[in-house]
Amino acid sequence: KDLLSVRLTALSPSETFAMAQKSNELKAQGIDVINMSVGEPDFNTPKHIKEAAKKAIDDNFSFYSPVAGFPDLKKAICEKLQAENELEYTPAQIVVSGGAKQSLCNVILSIVDKGEEVIIPAPYWVSYPEMVKLAEGTPVFVYAGIEQNFKITPQQLEEAITPKTKALILCSPSNPTGSVYTKEELAALAGVLEKYPQVYVIADEIYEHINYIGQHESIAQFSTVRDRVVVINGVSKGYAMTGWRIGWIAAPQWIASACSMLQGQYTSGPSSISQKAALAAYTGDQSCVGEMRIAFERRRNLIVELLGQIPGLKVNSPMGAFYIFPDCSSYLGRSYNGKTIQTATDLAMYILEEAHVACVGGDAFGAPGCIRLSYATSDESITEAIARIKKALGKLS
Ligand code: PLP
Repeated sequence: KDLLSVRLTALSPSETFAMAQKSNELKAQGIDVINMSVGEPDFNTPKHIKEAAKKAIDDNFSFYSPVAGFPDLKKAICEKLQAENELEYTPAQIVVSGGAKQSLCNVILSIVDKGEEVIIPAPYWVSYPEMVKLAEGTPVFVYAGIEQNFKITPQQLEEAITPKTKALILCSPSNPTGSVYTKEELAALAGVLEKYPQVYVIADEIYEHINYIGQHESIAQFSTVRDRVVVINGVSKGYAMTGWRIGWIAAPQWIASACSMLQGQYTSGPSSISQKAALAAYTGDQSCVGEMRIAFERRRNLIVELLGQIPGLKVNSPMGAFYIFPDCSSYLGRSYNGKTIQTATDLAMYILEEAHVACVGGDAFGAPGCIRLSYATSDESITEAIARIKKALGKLS
């Protein structure tokens, strides 16, 4: 291990991938595991998108693309931003990358310097703090529990800002909580940020299309902060395209240029075939997006109802994404067969071993009393999984 760079030894492995791997191991042993640890839609990529990719292969889109992405895709992204979000961007402000994950990492590496602080509301997506550490920045966590629907208040934001603050990472709809900031809440956060012109906002909107409030709201819509917001988005979640690896930023010109320069040195432009698929996603029939959203909303309603019947769990109703984040603190400290469950990760492990349901302990997301369940699975699996969890929790004393 000491052969590794200091930069790398500071990083932690992804807990969500670790849990998915454990569940696959049990499955390989023939155990019927219901996997609620995954972070991806269970739908196949829509047919017209797959057809566009096949055509791209036949049309010989097999050469390097421009580093920041094909011009037609960048133009389609600008048109999407205008039509869906009322946001004006030029193609030069768009950089297409190998998934929103790379987009985020590009931005963080481009703007965060050693010792600078990045405010990360907790519960957070596992990779944010790790990316900040990679950039030698300092993650500053602001905790918002279930009683405030896992959303930070303007006061909390203001209290966390120091002269060293470089950025705020705001994820809405959120992974892991499913919370969605309303327009009014975003306006209030923007109101605070107005007073601190050195603070940038990295707005992770990858779950934009999976929301149950109707219109997606972006903090970039507030003109007072607009030139300090980087929008992160992509096709992974909304178009069921996680494996295609296409994400993008819409950013102030200088940040877009920096990200393009950075990826020009370490990955080049993303897959040309996947870019043609993403172009079809944005320019083709949008009904697939609505159909998947409706299925997710039905499952959300189902899981909220079922989890609500388990004594001792605190459950809220998530307004987007496909995760639910019950507070299980009342089960911590309980035991089974002489073994005490100390942490949420212990509880997730107990649920995997006893109920054969894979979920992720909240510790990984900076929320030690909670677990994350993904409901991107069939209604039948959800019903069966929650019944099994209820039974397993009932055995704890
Ligand atoms: N941001 C959040 C909040 C996510 O949950 C994910 C995927 O899990 C990503 C970004 C990364 O998306 P992509 O698969 O496009 O890299």
